[in-house]
Amino acid sequence: MSYKIAVIGAGVQGLASALCLSQQFLHSHITVIASEFYPETRNICSSHGLGLVISTTVGEMGNEDITDYIVTTMKYCSSFKKDYGKIAGILPIETILFCNGKEGLQMCAKDQQKLGFQRLSDDEAKPYDYIKDNGAKLFHDFRKDHLTVYKMTSYVIDCNRYLTWLKQKLESTVDSNGSKRISFQSRHVESFAELAPFYDLVINCSALGAKYLANDNNVVPIRGQYVSVAAPFVDKVYMAGETIVIPRCDDVGLGVTAQVGRSDIDPDPKDSDDIRRRCEALFPPIKNAKLRYSNVGIRPARIGGARVELELVNLNSTVSSKLPVIHNYGHGTKGFAQHWGCAQKVVKLASQALSSSFKL
Ligand SMILES: Cc1cc2nc3c(=O)[nH]c(=O)nc-3n(C[C@H](O)[C@H](O)[C@H](O)COP(=O)(O)OP(=O)(O)OC[C@H]3O[C@@H](n4cnc5c(N)ncnc54)[C@H](O)[C@@H]3O)c2cc1C
Repeated sequence: MSYKIAVIGAGVQGLASALCLSQQFLHSHITVIASEFYPETRNICSSHGLGLVISTTVGEMGNEDITDYIVTTMKYCSSFKKDYGKIAGILPIETILFCNGKEGLQMCAKDQQKLGFQRLSDDEAKPYDYIKDNGAKLFHDFRKDHLTVYKMTSYVIDCNRYLTWLKQKLESTVDSNGSKRISFQSRHVESFAELAPFYDLVINCSALGAKYLANDNNVVPIRGQYVSVAAPFVDKVYMAGETIVIPRCDDVGLGVTAQVGRSDIDPDPKDSDDIRRRCEALFPPIKNAKLRYSNVGIRPARIGGARVELELVNLNSTVSSKLPVIHNYGHGTKGFAQHWGCAQKVVKLASQALSSSFKL
């Protein structure tokens, strides 16, 4: 069967959902509709993220599925080998994680295993003993005897390279006659009803836009600032709470802030100073790294966790039926880490919504 599918949103969730749908529904036409497309953007969070694929907590803001989404994304990332990985911006990276007391790894043993965390012995953790002196700059209520160190292999997704790669992949998807199967529309969607006459199914990846589009008051902005420096000598990710040093394809990102409820997008010099101070405590050689720029993105979080589900939306009286809408928004601080798992779930829900037995 041939279907017409609209995807609202051109951040990592929208583009990945469109790609997975195009691979499953080979005879369908997909339209990606967004107010902003990368690189002509200021408000797409995905172009301002750090892109680490990792989770240190289960059920961020209440979502119990997060670990499974991340495990699926990690498997997908592992399929990008060397040169191809560089083009797409996906690279494996050794990650050292410092945890302390109550802020320790809030993860059950099963999830630690799934994600591949290994706790370092006292001997293995010796090179990081300096954290015991610097810990008060990194953790509230720091206690030396509560410090634990973990390592794992994770992945860094270089956000800008990956968005470009995803978009190019979508643009080059053609049917057996060589006609393009995916098109793009640059515009703001006011309501699902305006799409109903033209599409069989709508995927809502509108992130913060879902507050109005899906009338969801649980959507919350979390302001994230980071600092980009030139430091090619960094070859691992170092992470302690909200402080992170993360080598990417073309720079090293130092982060971050997590200011709940704020959505102002100009970098604040005080935040940048604080980030640099914390990152020096975490990884002292970073001290003299040359500043490239500071950047801010607004994470689209949601109380109750990301919403990835199918809804039959009641349309207004001028349109006779209901419209199937698959929501995929509210991924907060872990949109890249979860994206491929969520896109796979969107495909499952789409199969359900488009099946002949599904009753409107
Ligand atoms: C500093 C920082 C560091 C981060 N670090 C990490 C990290 O290490 N790991 C990780 O996994 N995540 C990280 N994140 C979070 C991650 O970047 C986000 O979760 C992710 O980018 C959200 O993607 P999205 O596609 O849902 O939303 P967005 O990228 O915001 O895209 C939303 C899209 O919807 C469109 N849109 C909205 N409303 C409408 C409408 N009504 N009509 C039409 N179009 C609409 C927008 O134009 C845009 O195209 C970080 C974020 C920041 C800011």
